[in-house]
Amino acid sequence: MNPPRIAVTGVVRTVDGLERAVLNRGYVLSLARAGALPLILSPLMGAELATHALEGVDGLLLTGGEDLDPALYGEAPVPQLGSVSHPRDEFELALFAAARRRELPVLGICRGCQVINVALGGSLYQDLPTQRPGAVQHDAPGPRDHRSHGILVEPGSRLAEALGATAFRTNSFHHQAIRRLAPGLRATAHAEDGLIEGIEGPENQPWLAAVQWHPEEFCDAGDCPDQRLFPAFVEACLSAPSSVRG
Ligand code: MN
Repeated sequence: MNPPRIAVTGVVRTVDGLERAVLNRGYVLSLARAGALPLILSPLMGAELATHALEGVDGLLLTGGEDLDPALYGEAPVPQLGSVSHPRDEFELALFAAARRRELPVLGICRGCQVINVALGGSLYQDLPTQRPGAVQHDAPGPRDHRSHGILVEPGSRLAEALGATAFRTNSFHHQAIRRLAPGLRATAHAEDGLIEGIEGPENQPWLAAVQWHPEEFCDAGDCPDQRLFPAFVEACLSAPSSVRG
């Protein structure tokens, strides 16, 4: 059987003096190990090609990266806002809209979680340390797989089913997060300080879930709640009515 084809949004970085489309290895390995074929999409192709980019694809993974332009949710930037990429904002919003039209399963990670919330009408904390100070450090230093804070998942939710756990510790390196949850989304995972760390769409709609942490960074760890998100997503892509696999 051919593996399901999953579009994954790459980032644009200058490496050795050249602008390149790149993607962290964790996304590629996590999807490949879950039995999927990752297809890297570069924002350099532009938003107009986003619709066509999903033809023949079984699912969409929106990845981590830059801050979103707060103008997208009607705010002026605070001084602590990080770097933004308008081409990537436009590309990923167009991709998400196309995925919704095609009823494709969508998984969001970190920035991807924020993109989904903003696309559906929600807002973000532009900078957690100044706008929502607390005891939990969400932009934790150290290795990318350092489990720095706890996560509580709502029992019975799509995320709980996917992760196979409702309480565990995970990694955290984000300075933005969901502030006002978009209509139609449920917040089903929270950090120990109450911050939204996981969202999902209604059960009667195509599979849609997103997390604020980085499950892909545990691609070398073997079985763990974080990594189980990928086979759950791949299974949703295989069984979706929209699947081009028939
Ligand atoms: Mn966090």
